[in-house]
Amino acid sequence: MGPRPLHLGLAPVPLVTRSFESRSADWLSVDEALQRVMKGAAPLEAQNVPLSSSVGFALSEDVVAGVTLPPWDNSAMDGYAVRAEDIRGASVSSPAGLTVTRQVRAGDPPGPSVGKEEAVRIMTGAPVPPGADSVVRVEDTDAEGEGGTVQILNDRDAEHNVRPAGQDMRPGELLLARGHTVSPGSTGVLAAAGVDQVPVCRPASVAILTTGDELRGPDGFADVRAGTAIPDSNGPMVAAMIAEAGGLPTHLGIAGDDAEALAARIEEAADADVLVTIGGASMGEADLVKRVLDELGYEHDFWRVRMRPGSPVGFGWLPRAGRRQPVFSLPGNPASAFVTFEVFVRPFLRRLGGHTTTERRKIMCRTAAPLRTPASLTYFLRVALDGSDSDATVRLTGSQGSGLVSGLARTEGLTIIEKDVSELQEGDEVTVMLIREP
Ligand code: AMP
Ligand code: MG
Repeated sequence: MGPRPLHLGLAPVPLVTRSFESRSADWLSVDEALQRVMKGAAPLEAQNVPLSSSVGFALSEDVVAGVTLPPWDNSAMDGYAVRAEDIRGASVSSPAGLTVTRQVRAGDPPGPSVGKEEAVRIMTGAPVPPGADSVVRVEDTDAEGEGGTVQILNDRDAEHNVRPAGQDMRPGELLLARGHTVSPGSTGVLAAAGVDQVPVCRPASVAILTTGDELRGPDGFADVRAGTAIPDSNGPMVAAMIAEAGGLPTHLGIAGDDAEALAARIEEAADADVLVTIGGASMGEADLVKRVLDELGYEHDFWRVRMRPGSPVGFGWLPRAGRRQPVFSLPGNPASAFVTFEVFVRPFLRRLGGHTTTERRKIMCRTAAPLRTPASLTYFLRVALDGSDSDATVRLTGSQGSGLVSGLARTEGLTIIEKDVSELQEGDEVTVMLIREP
């Protein structure tokens, strides 16, 4: 079969003269490819989001305390505010009897000083009145068995249970740094700092284009059932990975292996911050993505990385009105799309979203069985973890064929085996990039 000419309705398009891809591969190392990708990544502009929906965004500026918290010395217990010197030596057999003068609750003013051999009944969070330096928990008292007097039965709380003003924060103190990823815990800190509109970086919008004549989405699943088509598993998967990375995915749908259709879909992605194409990235004659991108003025950065799976991954820039759009072209095999997204696209999206942490956590584990990685490539093996973090072993999620999808559901991490290593014995140490908590 002859080559497919490109007709984009643009400048005259040279007839493609070879069926198979003729671009020479760059064969970068993983590290160099990642460096090139990250060189092009900078945080997007700032916006405000309501505190209640700020989890997952990255702060676009430092958050500094504007108030003193707690604002006053306050009680850590329900009990009696006393002077330590009045209760020293108290025990069940020799209790200290103190006169209860009044009560103070959270929200009350502290009131007058606590005098010698006096006690003030106090609730957790209530201001500790002047003069008192201790709160005796109610369990260590007779809880005023006789009206007006409390018997202290233990002196272990002498000089305890007073939370000092400013212990939590003081004005001017840095609470959260720019680039911090807001967690449920940090929303508590932001609320405590009086922030209700949170300054964050805008998350990247990402258009996804899946390609292949053989692919069907949910509306064409009858063909898959009939055994005549392949389900588009990468589109939904990459959309979910983008969302997990903090980005905003739009699936443009499936384009057939047809230059016009590809070009039209790529045009639809003009407004997205990032374009991710999946499939059509390899050496075949239907692998038109690179050729169509070229026709649209694509500024190629690299194609092919010394890794497995995922070597046909590419990266570059498309000219768009007034800007350059970063374009990742991921290979179509599901495990290749998964791994190349994790290794290159995710850190890029994290940086665009302003997150200080762009990388997955890496831990050392031991192999549960021997492993072979014969090619001189960096391997990313899909693994599950057994045991605790400090003493985990990794086992393969199944066959590592790049065309397989089912093992991805069991994948908790990627074991990284460098290109100069070709065999590992059971119990050898390996680096694991954690993808999700086991
Ligand atoms: P390609 O990169 O287009 O050569 O595709 C490589 C392999 O991945 C082929 O077997 C495709 O059928 C398969 N593939 C491509 N895109 C997808 C997708 N979106 N979902 C599932 N499999 C795909
Ligand atoms: Mg294809």
